[in-house]
Amino acid sequence: MDTPSDPRFVLQRWLTGPRFSGLPAPSADLQPPKLSFEFFPPRTEVLEQQLWACIGRLAPLKPRFVSVTYGAGGTTQARTHATVVRLLQETDLVPAAHLTCVGATREAVDDVARQYWDAGVRHIVALRGDAPPGQAYQPHPGGYAYAADLVAGLRRIGDFDISVAAYPEVHPTALNPVADLDNLKRKLDAGATRAITQYFFDTSVYLRFLDLCLAAGITAPVVPGIMPVSNFAQAVKFSDMCGASVPPWMARLFEGTEHDPETRRMIGLVVATEQVRLLQANGVDEFHFYTLNRPDLTFAIAHVLGVRAAPQAGETIP
Ligand SMILES: Cc1cc2nc3c(=O)[nH]c(=O)nc-3n(C[C@H](O)[C@H](O)[C@H](O)COP(=O)(O)OP(=O)(O)OC[C@H]3O[C@@H](n4cnc5c(N)ncnc54)[C@H](O)[C@@H]3O)c2cc1C
Repeated sequence: MDTPSDPRFVLQRWLTGPRFSGLPAPSADLQPPKLSFEFFPPRTEVLEQQLWACIGRLAPLKPRFVSVTYGAGGTTQARTHATVVRLLQETDLVPAAHLTCVGATREAVDDVARQYWDAGVRHIVALRGDAPPGQAYQPHPGGYAYAADLVAGLRRIGDFDISVAAYPEVHPTALNPVADLDNLKRKLDAGATRAITQYFFDTSVYLRFLDLCLAAGITAPVVPGIMPVSNFAQAVKFSDMCGASVPPWMARLFEGTEHDPETRRMIGLVVATEQVRLLQANGVDEFHFYTLNRPDLTFAIAHVLGVRAAPQAGETIP
């Protein structure tokens, strides 16, 4: 029987299909990339412990900064502040505080920024934020209308290192891709040092976006935001809200793992590791990880990228 499933033809099928060359092996002189990690401020005592265990595990990787998100509409203002200040006081890490301007007056936002400056915080991730679900965004009449205005306001308060958001797949409510890119340039021209992207799963979309940034005259780093996925269903829901697309191949990879969290985690590790390896092979050497306050996948991916934990005081390597 001369069919493709005939065992006599298996090798022929393998040897006549398309060929893919592997990603280049990292060379010994490749510098480890610069990493940053994003956390969210905990809501409960249990989550608080989870966050600090996560920080304890990732801190030896010596990230260049760790950022703490600001809940929708500033709902976590006190918790974000408390987490950032504790990072400053109890660790060697450089904290970056996320700050949004939605629904607040300039004075209120400036006050928060001044409190950060006075506490010794020197890095802000400046964002517009979103209207409550179901409502269209309206600038506050006495507030900063968009993130670019917030960046300009922050520059008047102190010499902050400022990061802003970028959208390789275009912000969901942007007028069009060109207007969105113009907006990114405005934020950087207003005084931001770098952009951090919304996460994406199709790496080619990000690489094309870099080309567009360069053509638009953007020279600051547009750091890829990496989301290691271990809960696929949750990632699909969240991606729908924030305008990140989930490619069909990813759904196929996670198919059938709904009740198998361990396999999901391993698949998530493979997906994110392939992504960062591909980015690294394309020359990208800065990465921002959305950790969701869980360290293991980020730690393993960082290891693959060549980032090794610095030995702690008194620790000996066996
Ligand atoms: C790395 C990262 C971190 C984030 N952290 C948080 C967080 O901690 N807390 C939180 O609540 N949200 C956070 N977000 C989500 C963010 O607040 C939303 O995506 C929000 O919808 C846009 O914020 P922005 O800073 O990109 O806004 P902007 O840069 O102001 O842009 C928002 C939209 O307005 C458009 N626009 C800009 N200027 C104008 C103008 N003059 N006229 C008309 N349209 C204009 C833009 O094209 C875009 O569509 C984060 C997003 C990213 C990528």
